This record gives sequence, structure tokens and C-alpha cells, in this order.
Amino acid sequence: MIKYGELTTKKGNRGFFVNTLYHNIINKLGNISTDISKDNSRMYIEFKEEDLDQILKKINNIFGIHEYLVATKIDTDLEGIKKEILEIAKREKFKTFKVECKRSDKSFPVQSIEFARQLGGIILKNIADIKVDVHHPEIIFNVEIRHKYTFIYTDAFKGLGGYPNGTLGRGMVMLSGGIDSPVAAYLTLKRGVKIDCIYFEAIPHTSIEAREKVITLSKKLSKYTDKIHLHIIPFTDLQEAIYKNVEPEYCITIMRRMMYRITERLAKENKCPIIINGESIGQVASQTLTSMSVINNVTNMPVIRPVACLDKLEIIDIAKKIDTYETSILPFEDCCTIFVPKHPVINPSLAMCEKFEENFPWQDMINKIVLEHQTLVIDDQKDEEFSDLL
Ligand code: ATP
Ligand code: MG
Repeated sequence: MIKYGELTTKKGNRGFFVNTLYHNIINKLGNISTDISKDNSRMYIEFKEEDLDQILKKINNIFGIHEYLVATKIDTDLEGIKKEILEIAKREKFKTFKVECKRSDKSFPVQSIEFARQLGGIILKNIADIKVDVHHPEIIFNVEIRHKYTFIYTDAFKGLGGYPNGTLGRGMVMLSGGIDSPVAAYLTLKRGVKIDCIYFEAIPHTSIEAREKVITLSKKLSKYTDKIHLHIIPFTDLQEAIYKNVEPEYCITIMRRMMYRITERLAKENKCPIIINGESIGQVASQTLTSMSVINNVTNMPVIRPVACLDKLEIIDIAKKIDTYETSILPFEDCCTIFVPKHPVINPSLAMCEKFEENFPWQDMINKIVLEHQTLVIDDQKDEEFSDLL
């Protein structure tokens, strides 16, 4: 049984949010045999008991689920409920407990409070060394009685929260092999946004292993959405032109302005109205407020920086939780880390950037890059081979 949580605040759009969640769940559960139904406040997945672990693993990665629980479903029948609750209680370990009943079917012959008392009595009589504690019980046996069926359950588990993926459109994530950008991507997915990813590489200065790392990170992110399109940008010629034509201290600033320009082109081509990246205020010279402003100046598109205000340790905590950290710390060079000048400018001037950019035909180079880039489709449901690209 799945509870939607934050979705419930989306009054007019509620149907759309619930339907999207419903289709996302069907998609993720793939070949597992289930029967899924929904009403305004809940969704029910019926499945075979042996598939439970596999289903929980998937459910734990689906955004838009506030809380879920595993319930036993039986026919609404007074004697049947008494028998089943005792079976369930016998499987649990506890010293104190409480039974809570809810009756949506008022034709059920016993009132909720009275029925809870009767069920509590049955458990007490049949299991040794336990007692009722209505204030702080170790376990609560919940009984929801509906017209046809009754649900019995104990613990509820916290879901991932957020909005169902796909309810808030698409964004283009600048995905490096570092720690920050996969976390930025995850936080974006959490808000219901589907993502494309763009990765800049400068072969032979960056290695194939660096690309593999980004493919692995995309695959880990695809667990939380469906397919991810990963656009691989051949950045070598442009990067070399920058290093030939720009004063060393401005190289990173100009390189990042080029990255933003290319990202904007790819975002528009792929119908993404926003750009997302892993910049964090003050982390490096290109992420001072002045640097961000001068770099951002090349595009009018909104640039969302989900980790802008987090400490590195906070970002690392999330990276570990989403299982990207170990991949991110693999030691392969990124195109940002090669040719790093000794003293990158921390307060760049826009006029200086524009002057340096007159020195080489970056517009033509960007057109060529956009034409020549490759796109991989990353799908967590498939074990694809990218050997022709590696
Ligand atoms: P991360 O910030 O992901 O840990 P990083 O520290 O190597 O990686 P920075 O130099 O801090 O990256 O760059 C800031 C942001 O710019 C990254 O978070 C990412 O969004 C984007 N970026 C940097 N390098 C690349 C790249 N090679 N391809 C795509 N995006 C990149
Ligand atoms: Mg960073």
C-alpha cells in the first residue's frame, strides 16, 4: 500500500501526479507479476509473496512515494480477521502492542473500538509475556476494514518523497565524473524533472576510463527515472584553441563559458528548458559569485544549482546514500582538471572574456561539435554494451 504524501497538496493536478506515479511504478516493476490499482489517496500493488524483496528494492527508488507498507489482504469476514491477526502477531517479536481498527464499511457488525479491543484480547490470550500499551507500544497492528477486503499491517516505511519523475518536465544536467554533479542530478530528479546529461571530454587528454565512469554514474542515476540520454561532447579542439589563445588565468573561465554555450544548444535541441549543474558557491575559483556571474552571462536559460549552498561533506553524504560516491572518486582526469593554470582568476571581468574570445573562431567550432557529438541511451532495465564507443 503506497501513500502519496506531498502530491496531496497538488489540488487541480492531483490526477496527473497520481497517474504519472502509477505509470512509473508499472514501468519499474517491469516483468514482475503484479496487479496495481489506485484511488485518490493510495495505490495498491498485489504480488506474490516470493517477489516481495525485489519489489521493495524498486519501490525504494521511486520518487513521489511518501510512505509505504506491506499489508496482508483478506476477505472482510469477522472470524477470518481474528484468525489472520493472530497468525501475523505470532510471526512478530514484541513485548507491548496495540491494535488500531478503521472501518470504512459501516455495515461491518462490530464498531472499530470494540473490534480493536476484541482483537487485542485474542492476541493477549494466545501469546505469552506481552501486554497492551496504548501510548508507546513497540508494535501496532493496524486493521483497515473495507466493504470487500480488509488490510492488516504493522510498520510503515518511509519512501523517497519528492514528485513522481516526469511531472515537472526535462532538464539538461552537466555531468562530470566528479562528486557534485551526480548529486545535483539526483536532487533534480527528486523534484519530478526528467534529465538528459551532457559530458565534455577531451580525448586524448582525458581517458576512455573517464568516459566509462560517467556512463556508470548515468546508469546509477537511471535507477531513479527511466532512460537517460547521455550526450558526449568532443571538446578537444575547442579546449586546445582556448589554451593557445587565452591568458592562462582566464582559461578556465572561458572554457566554462564554452561549456555553457554548448549545453544551451543541446538543451534546446532536446527540449530541455533548464540547465542543471553541480556548482557550489566558493568551491573553486570558477565558482566565486563573480565567476558564476561572468560564466552564466553567455546564456539566458535558467541554471539550477541544487548543491550551490551545501558543504562538501553534505554533498558527500548524499553521494554515498545514492551510491555514486565510490564511482566519483575513481582517479581519472576530467577535462576541467587538465591544463589547470597556477592562478585561475577569481574575479574575472566580462570585458576581458569577450576580448579573449575574439581571438579564435569559437562559433564555428561549437557548430562542428554540436554536429559531431554522440548520444548514448542509458537504461537501468537493460545491460547494454557500449563497446563500440569505448
Ligand atoms: P563535480 O563538481 O561534479 O564534483 P568537478 O568538481 O570536477 O565535478 P567542477 O570543476 O566543480 O567539477 O565543475 C562544476 C560543475 O560543472 C560540475 O559539477 C558539472 O556540473 C560541470 N562540469 C564540470 N566538468 C564537466 C564535464 N567534463 N562535463 C560536464 N559537466 C562538467
Ligand atoms: Mg565541484
